[in-house]
Amino acid sequence: MPEYKYSTLAVHAGQYPDAQTGAVNVPIYLTSTFELDGIGASKGWDYSRGGNPTRDRLEEALKALEGGTWARVFGSGMAAITALVAPLHVGDHLICSHNVYGGTARLLDQVIKNYGIEIEYVDLTDLEALAAALKPATKLVHVETPTNPLMQLTDIAAVAELAHKAGAEVSVDNTFLSPALQSPLTLGADIVMHSTTKFLNGHSDGLGGVLVGTKPHHAEKFHLMQKAMGGILSPFESYLVLRGIKTLPLRMKQHDENGRAVAAFLAEHPKVQKIFYPGLKSHPQHELAARQQKGFGSMITMELGSREAVERFLKSLKVFLNAESLGGVESLASHSATTTHAALTEERRAEIGITQGLVRLSVGIEDKDDLIADLTQALEAI
Ligand SMILES: *Cc1c(COP(=O)(O)O)cnc(C)c1O
Repeated sequence: MPEYKYSTLAVHAGQYPDAQTGAVNVPIYLTSTFELDGIGASKGWDYSRGGNPTRDRLEEALKALEGGTWARVFGSGMAAITALVAPLHVGDHLICSHNVYGGTARLLDQVIKNYGIEIEYVDLTDLEALAAALKPATKLVHVETPTNPLMQLTDIAAVAELAHKAGAEVSVDNTFLSPALQSPLTLGADIVMHSTTKFLNGHSDGLGGVLVGTKPHHAEKFHLMQKAMGGILSPFESYLVLRGIKTLPLRMKQHDENGRAVAAFLAEHPKVQKIFYPGLKSHPQHELAARQQKGFGSMITMELGSREAVERFLKSLKVFLNAESLGGVESLASHSATTTHAALTEERRAEIGITQGLVRLSVGIEDKDDLIADLTQALEAI
């Protein structure tokens, strides 16, 4: 449906009435298997690991939102990243953003590395460092932008150009911005990945993950990963993401507006020692954010000085919930060092700048005055 604008796609791509009944919502096909018309003659589905009509519709919606030609959904964001790296072979070299989501680093360091795949973390804000790290064995450059939780940006177009010249493909974890605020495929990425658990679902009621791209051989490769590895998304959770997607553009507008307001408030607050938000002019990559993104989003990280300060702050919050995850309608605050980045050693956290005084906010869609009042009283408690 390329002729439609974004909000229309969000409501209608993949979400057309059921041909048999006219139901305006995509039915949840709770079935593991499908009756065949004869030997080898199916109606398009034979077994739900390979394909399920509800899941197919979600894949149709997600490919439209990211501007891809195929999408494959998985049981979680981590299952999607597993499927992304599983086709690599012994001796292949994988370059990864140096401060990725903790779970990604855990998968690469504690599982994938044991398969003889060389993992190298590179500061991808530094293009010279990337150029130096690329080698003939490099098959994939995995980018996360903005990074979690320090909100560092990577220039996707520049990375894609360097990687492609070296014969490597580029995948981008687009979870923090959602397809509404950043389109990595149009910037030259080969594969986009999301934890649909976050903004795409938007209601914190289910996990999921997706890979999207434009290369036909990838469509087959990642369908094979669904069938062979089995980490697929259930029909019910596919439905939840389909339902969430309808309001994605509307929610992202509010997330973005609230994010900007909260960041502007925190930037002026004396108890906030440092703030990381690409929407602020003081962010070192504000210009890149303005050029590469369609908004600044609602992820904000701040430095409160100590673990004790964070503890008091989190205990005093009334509207914000002290919980990990992000991208839901409700505002969350979390202590990165002991939640999303708990899997890293203290040395590695120090190396990438994740201190005990960091708090990450996922600003929800509540009224921004209530959010700012809540933050005001919690910061006073420090
Ligand atoms: C949450 C998250 C993941 C992992 O997704 P799950 O659905 O929790 O498995 C990967 N990348 C980023 C940036 C995330 O925020």
